[in-house]
Amino acid sequence: MNDSLFPKPPREPDDQLPHIHRLLLGYYGQPKPREPWDPLKQFIYSLLSSRTKTETTHQVVRHLQRQFASWDDLRDASLKEIEDAIRDVTFPDQKAVQLKSSLQQITHRYGKLTLDFLAQYRTDKIRAWLEQFPGVGSKTSAAVVNFSTLRRRALCVDSHHLRVTQRLGLTPRADAATTEERLMRLVPETWTAEMLDEHHSLIKLHGQRLCTFTDPRCTDCPLLRLCPFGKKQVTKSDIAAS
Ligand code: SF4
Repeated sequence: MNDSLFPKPPREPDDQLPHIHRLLLGYYGQPKPREPWDPLKQFIYSLLSSRTKTETTHQVVRHLQRQFASWDDLRDASLKEIEDAIRDVTFPDQKAVQLKSSLQQITHRYGKLTLDFLAQYRTDKIRAWLEQFPGVGSKTSAAVVNFSTLRRRALCVDSHHLRVTQRLGLTPRADAATTEERLMRLVPETWTAEMLDEHHSLIKLHGQRLCTFTDPRCTDCPLLRLCPFGKKQVTKSDIAAS
């Protein structure tokens, strides 16, 4: 391998994520700031979003808001009606069951259908509570606490985040909960909930644009010098081209 192409980055572990963040900001520019939704709308969005394109999930949530006068009406609709209304997301049959059951359980436990009351609780307690609902794992609970008006510190680790951080060697192969725990050890104390949201957006964008599942464009990547996987890819393509 040609070391002059890949000089060792002089980075302390504490600066790894901030350095990656700065490089991605330089490459993609500042992501559009999020206008946080209330926790219940974010919960519904996040439950529907797994393995579904972001724009499709947004369209489905807009459609739900047009079709049902309130989230109570969505909860009380038949499974068939809900499944039809969300048919553009992946696994609409499973998600209809999870959504209806979650909305019913929230109503049963709190007395009405809202998640605004979560604001009075600690973040770990909120996440454990949310993760009791069907289909809700660490990705969804992190999205609810971080992206919504709750605005707590958490890192939403989706499939893009898993892939990019594993390729960068920041975490070994692991599930989203373990990966989030390991990454949060690298997050500076000074990063606010908004910074973590911005970091998630940048990594996700990178996973969608350059560090794709099937065809990572490592030679164009601003993180190449930091990336063990990318260096191997580039070396392989150099060998293939020679
Ligand atoms: S160098 Fe390649 S594998 Fe590494 S982060 Fe960039 S695109 Fe992904």
